[in-house]
Amino acid sequence: MATDIEGRVSLEEIREELLDCDSVEERLSYLIEIGATLPAFPPEQCVEENRVLGCQSMVWLVPHIEHEKIHFSATSDAPMVRGLIAILIAAYSGQSASEILQFPMDAFFGEIKLQTFITPMRSNGLHSMIMRVKAIARANEVALSSGMTIKAHPIERTAKTPIRTIQSALADFPILKREHTSGQRLVYLDSAASSQRPRQVIDAMSRVYAEHYSNVHRSGHELAAETTSAMESARNSIARFINVPELESIVLTSGTTGSINLVARAWGDANVKAGDEILLTEMEHHSNIVPWQQLAERTGAVIRWLPIRDDYQLDIDRLSEFLSSRTKMVAFTAVSNVLGTINPIQTLVKAAQSVGSRVLVDAAQAIPHGAVDVQAMDADFVVFSGHKMLGPTGIGVLYGKPAHLESMPPFLGGGNMIKSVSVTGFVPADIPHRFEAGTAPIVEAIGMRPAVEFLESIGEDQIIEHERSLVREVHRRFANEKKIKIYGPAVEAKNGIVTFTIDGLHPDEVGRRLDAQGIAIRVGHHCAMPLHARLKLASSCRASFYLYNTLEDVKRFCDAVERLIK
Ligand code: PMP
Repeated sequence: MATDIEGRVSLEEIREELLDCDSVEERLSYLIEIGATLPAFPPEQCVEENRVLGCQSMVWLVPHIEHEKIHFSATSDAPMVRGLIAILIAAYSGQSASEILQFPMDAFFGEIKLQTFITPMRSNGLHSMIMRVKAIARANEVALSSGMTIKAHPIERTAKTPIRTIQSALADFPILKREHTSGQRLVYLDSAASSQRPRQVIDAMSRVYAEHYSNVHRSGHELAAETTSAMESARNSIARFINVPELESIVLTSGTTGSINLVARAWGDANVKAGDEILLTEMEHHSNIVPWQQLAERTGAVIRWLPIRDDYQLDIDRLSEFLSSRTKMVAFTAVSNVLGTINPIQTLVKAAQSVGSRVLVDAAQAIPHGAVDVQAMDADFVVFSGHKMLGPTGIGVLYGKPAHLESMPPFLGGGNMIKSVSVTGFVPADIPHRFEAGTAPIVEAIGMRPAVEFLESIGEDQIIEHERSLVREVHRRFANEKKIKIYGPAVEAKNGIVTFTIDGLHPDEVGRRLDAQGIAIRVGHHCAMPLHARLKLASSCRASFYLYNTLEDVKRFCDAVERLIK
């Protein structure tokens, strides 16, 4: 069999040989023969980002661009599929993007009567490979004209440079233009519960429904390929945003709560036993308490609580009292959802690691402000939600160090999370899909990309400085109000949260009276009852400021609170 310099059998030879075969068996064994001529494919490239989705077997494909020609290398774990890959490489490799897009592949398949010797399942898989090749060609056709090159799922490792001012971002939030029933402009100070979304997120989500929508990671048709690619590129943006080098370490979940429950079940049940300890802090959200309490109930493990000091910071000096070889997990929030306190992540992670404990960081209140570098943190697990960071509801992230995720059994079982199922059992899929059972929150996942890009376009420095300037003004206005008590550290040690009580006024009353003036704050225990017990409170008022709030919002809020007191 003649092969060219790249190890390709020519398309002409393939056509003639297949037409010369007398039986289906001969054709199939010819496919296996040409599959064996494929050049070796580096095993380190057999990773999720290079996998062709929609194939029955595992298929990996990588493009290389040289002198405006796209070369493909690919492989599969099925010898017959390697034969189909040899055909695709003969047809497509070494061509320009437009030659690839124009190549009459269907006519060639017609000539060799492909449908007579491969099954419909194989045919679907083949179609998925062609879709992937064409998607690469299409992306490069556009990119080459601007001097760039693009891979199937572009991996962008470097953070985007901020390009917009925070003031320009305001106009992008349609909901902030609505009137409140009071007739006043809405002042939304409840972003710590859930942020609002810019039109970029809303538009991206409606575009998916209107133009591309299909289920993902299953079929190989055009819509499926487009939707799958959009969802995987969102995973990619998330990885870049939190500075994670391995895409497979990003599990898409339903939110922070879903992510913590996944770890407490899949990691906890396998690693925690009676007498082991789990260290939490007094400022945790219920999401980072109850799943561990449930794990403790199941296993007999003990929960310990790192206290907070009277200055609303964690009592880090006492950390060693709470850590020992019994500690199996230290789970803490990066930023308190009540106090706004920014915790010393690295100190906590290092202390936990020094006793061999795993660490989970609840970044739900940190990530909206952009300050999360997972590699620098070095935590084992990092979790957060989309809806607090300008993204959609129903989507969240579990980052796990790949070695931990690899060693964890699946939590939920079902479609998408398996490699194979038989009457005797199942083989789980590789990470991250092992933890993504069932139909994913596809459109929500896709909406994460514009959310991340929006935050990147402004940059964390601007966001944090802007929020601080607003909170500083609230602290200044409340400083001489004897009836107002603020719970939280100094402005520089917290993010955009002001939690307070007013003497003689129940928080419910405060919330109701501010709402009557178009000002939305949150009142209650903010899903942090242990913290409220520590503060000797049943409930409190929380105004949370975000990048789209203004000094005018601060003025409306402070004026309204002052009127309440008077
Ligand atoms: N942790 C923290 C610190 C939070 O603020 C929240 C949301 N208030 C959660 C966890 C839970 O997030 P979700 O409801 O999106 O799962």
